[in-house]
Amino acid sequence: MSYTIINPATEEAGETIEHLSLEQTDEAIDRAKRAQKEWAARNPADRAAALRLFADAVDGDVENLAQLEVRNSGHPIGQARWEAEHVRNVLEYYSATPERLFGKQIPVAGGIDVTFQEPLGVVGVITPWNFPMTIASWGFAPALAAGNAVLLKPAEWTPLTSIRLGELALQAGLPEGLFQVLPGQGSVVGERFVTNPTVRKVVFTGSTAVGKRIMAGAADQIKRVTLELGGKSANIVFADADLEKAAASAPYGVFENAGQDCCARSRILVQRSVYDKFMEYLEPAVKGVKVGNPLDEATEMGPLVHKKHFDSVSSYVPSDAPVAFRGSAPEGAGYWFAPTVLTPDSRNHISATDEIFGPVVTVLPFDDDADAMELANATEYGLSGSIWTRDVGRALRISRGVESGNLSVNSHSSVRYNTPFGGFKQSGLGRELGPDAALAFTETKNVFIPAD
Ligand code: NAD
Repeated sequence: MSYTIINPATEEAGETIEHLSLEQTDEAIDRAKRAQKEWAARNPADRAAALRLFADAVDGDVENLAQLEVRNSGHPIGQARWEAEHVRNVLEYYSATPERLFGKQIPVAGGIDVTFQEPLGVVGVITPWNFPMTIASWGFAPALAAGNAVLLKPAEWTPLTSIRLGELALQAGLPEGLFQVLPGQGSVVGERFVTNPTVRKVVFTGSTAVGKRIMAGAADQIKRVTLELGGKSANIVFADADLEKAAASAPYGVFENAGQDCCARSRILVQRSVYDKFMEYLEPAVKGVKVGNPLDEATEMGPLVHKKHFDSVSSYVPSDAPVAFRGSAPEGAGYWFAPTVLTPDSRNHISATDEIFGPVVTVLPFDDDADAMELANATEYGLSGSIWTRDVGRALRISRGVESGNLSVNSHSSVRYNTPFGGFKQSGLGRELGPDAALAFTETKNVFIPAD
């Protein structure tokens, strides 16, 4: 099996990537097992230094990685550069971990009691196609830092930057077999991470449907899992907010990466008393989003990633869809989809409940604080969200009331490498990034040593 890369902005075919078989996956897992033993036995300072060299190698390759992501995924060049730099930052941040992976000394009678954070062994990381290299780094950097070997399976459509990161790791001097990138099908390579007992943890980012399957499969071996899944996040705008600012920024809370973002604020909830005013401000903001050639420095939004995904997103905007207004998109080759704002009559409209994962946002009115929270929480997901108000007390109350892992007041920030990220409810299990991420790649071992 193989997959030929298609540039989503031009529909031109690129390189063909061979997919690994089950046997090749098992061989890679065996290599990882051997490499992990040597890696974990190394002096922590040596492991830290090796990760810093890996970060340096990524730093030297930022432009190349960014160009690869433009060609493979259609990301605007400015965004793609940010992503490559983010991978470097994540590696730098976790290069501090090996020398700071502290256990505890616990007061007990008759001796000393200490804990160790032991590596798990081999970790499998399975990534989606929307942010291929950043999401991969959230798994591999802390896992390597904690003394594990990592196998990375990129999404079928977007393997190029992951493959390059694997090359950079080797060039930087990481031991052979320690960090391997295994392009392949989810049903072959990804599933094998779940069923092969040498893999002790699976970090999965992708759809909730596949995440459930992985969690069920992992139960058979009590295998550890971290799941980062879907979202249908709310951007809640109260009447007392800076409405112009809220409206001007709302498109960038949902249309970034063409809406192919698990944190996309794809529901805008607006207090009824200012709904009409907000919509007046929103229209020029949506029409002003610069959609076009990803290589143009001014471009803010590129194409959708693949024809199949274009068809899926299009199915949510049939000819009788409740379209309020749309932005623009290029014509001709490429999977272009104009930013689209829907205003359905019902809170149960499919656009208000399904994760569309494209540049489509649904605007709904609400009445008061209680109604806003009820509406925001009326979803199986709970990943992200924003709250716009000038009232600090309300910002705090609503932040505590919304069932979501990552909230942002008067802004749309979700991901920083030094703060935890993850979902409530069916948006996931566990947390990535931040100061504690490496602990999720360890087992706590307790040792008692008597004083006599
Ligand atoms: P997907 O679930 O179809 O695929 C994700 C990955 O899983 C791919 O690498 C795929 O090959 C692999 N896979 C598929 N079937 C598998 C199986 N049976 N066993 C093991 N692996 C398998 O998701 P996608 O379409 O690539 O990505 C879009 C989804 O990802 C959206 O739902 C989005 O919300 C979610 N996502 C979540 C986050 C987050 O951090 N919460 C981030 C990005 C994307």
